[in-house]
Parts: sequence; structure tokens; C-alpha cells
Amino acid sequence: MNPKILEIKNLTVNFDGFKALNSLNFSMETGELRVIIGPNGAGKTTFLDVITGKVQPTIGQVLFKGRNLQNLSEHQIARLGIGRKFQTPRVYQNLTVRENLDLACNKNKNVFSTLFSRPPAVEYRQVGGLLETIGLIPKADLAAALLSHGEKQRLEIGMLVAQSPDLLLVDEPVAGLTDEETENVGNLLLALAESHSIIVIEHDMEFVRQIARRVTVLHQGSVLCEGTMDEVQNDPRVIEVYLGC
Ligand code: ADP
Repeated sequence: MNPKILEIKNLTVNFDGFKALNSLNFSMETGELRVIIGPNGAGKTTFLDVITGKVQPTIGQVLFKGRNLQNLSEHQIARLGIGRKFQTPRVYQNLTVRENLDLACNKNKNVFSTLFSRPPAVEYRQVGGLLETIGLIPKADLAAALLSHGEKQRLEIGMLVAQSPDLLLVDEPVAGLTDEETENVGNLLLALAESHSIIVIEHDMEFVRQIARRVTVLHQGSVLCEGTMDEVQNDPRVIEVYLGC
């Protein structure tokens, strides 16, 4: 068994008396790709918000590589190696694909020096490798604004990976994508899962089936069940929560 990258113990988040998360326990091993599903309002976004430090737990602990994240800022948590991708792609529309990746590689440097100085060889190779990983070599010198929605999602995932996170949190990456784009994003996440720990939140069950080895179902702020996609889909509790029967 690999060491745990993330362990969450008895996590409760109280918003004005309402428990968005309620005594939630969760753990995953280093190198896992875990998909989290659950109906609207189950607590999925709050779950990511707590891991990234946007929301502080009312009760409970989040341990990342054994370290308690309590009271750390979002910035400090990101620096420890947790990267988050939000649902809507956040890329620099007027910069080229390559420039977006260059910037991500130099996140803590000055934008102008990044854009107007020649990148060192090691970074040039890193950006080249990323372009290949995200399948955008042919579009490297196009403005990001000209990419399709799916290509922008892949570019932003590449920008996240450029910052070398150990744990990637990816929120609904295929909402609004065509079947082909969905499959491309799935293949990208599977390729990244070779060398990263990844949590994906997703509603599209076909996509979940494509990428998930293990699925966690959230309901009313707690873990309802966990297992393979087949196990979860056939669990009567999951059927009841999704179909109300
Ligand atoms: P999901 O992402 O699974 O749809 P959320 O984590 O967004 O669920 O929300 C879980 C519950 O917590 C919902 O009922 C939501 O209305 C509530 N909630 C989320 N954020 C806040 C907040 N800042 N204040 C009050 N209630 C909130």
C-alpha cells in the first residue's frame, strides 16, 4: 500500500448552522485517481474548498502527506503542492498557448520578464513536454482565445501541472464538452495519473466510467459509499439518492 497523500478526519463545515460537510472521513493513497460524485448540494465544492484552504473546517482535520493544513492560507497550501482547477478555464486569452505555459512555469516571476526574455533550456524542454502531454503542439503559437473549450480545459490542466503539484484537484472538467473533447480530457487525466495523485469531481457518468478506478459518493456532507463504478452504481443507497426510489 502506498502512503496516504490525503487523509480527512471527522470534517464538519458549518455555514450559519447548516452543515455543508458533516463528520466526513476520507483518505486516498499517493498515486490514486479518485472521482467524487454526488447530487447537487452534497458538499463536493465545499470539500475542495476545505482542502485548498478557502474554507476552514469547523471541526476535524485535513492531513496532506501527513501534515495538518489547519490555519494555512490558500497560498501556503498551493505551495505545499496542491493545485486546483476550477470548472471554467482560466487562461490568458490574448497570449499564445506556449506563453500561457511559460507563465505557469514562472508563476512567481514577473510577467514581462517571462514574456520578453528567452526561456532557459530546461524550461523550454518543460514547456515542450507539456505541450505534448496536453496534445496542443500544433496550436502552440495560437492565441488561447482561438482554442475550443476542450482545448482550453487541457491548456489549463497543463498550466496546473507546470507548477509541479503532488495533488491535482479538478472540478467538473468536461461540463459542456463534446464527446470527443471529453474523451481527450479523460485520456489526459489518465496520462497524468501515472505520475500524480488526482481528485476529480464530475457529474458525467460516462466520463466517470472512462477514468475512475475508485469512486467516492458524497451525500448530505458525508461519504455515502466508495468503490468501483460498478459497485457504486449498483449500491441501493446510491440509487435512492440519485433516483429517489
Ligand atoms: P455541491 O458542490 O456538491 O453541489 P456545495 O459544497 O456547493 O455542494 O454545497 C453544499 C451545501 O452547502 C449546499 O446546500 C449549499 O447551499 C451550502 N453552502 C455552500 N456554501 C455555502 C455558504 N458559503 N454559505 C451557506 N451555505 C453554503
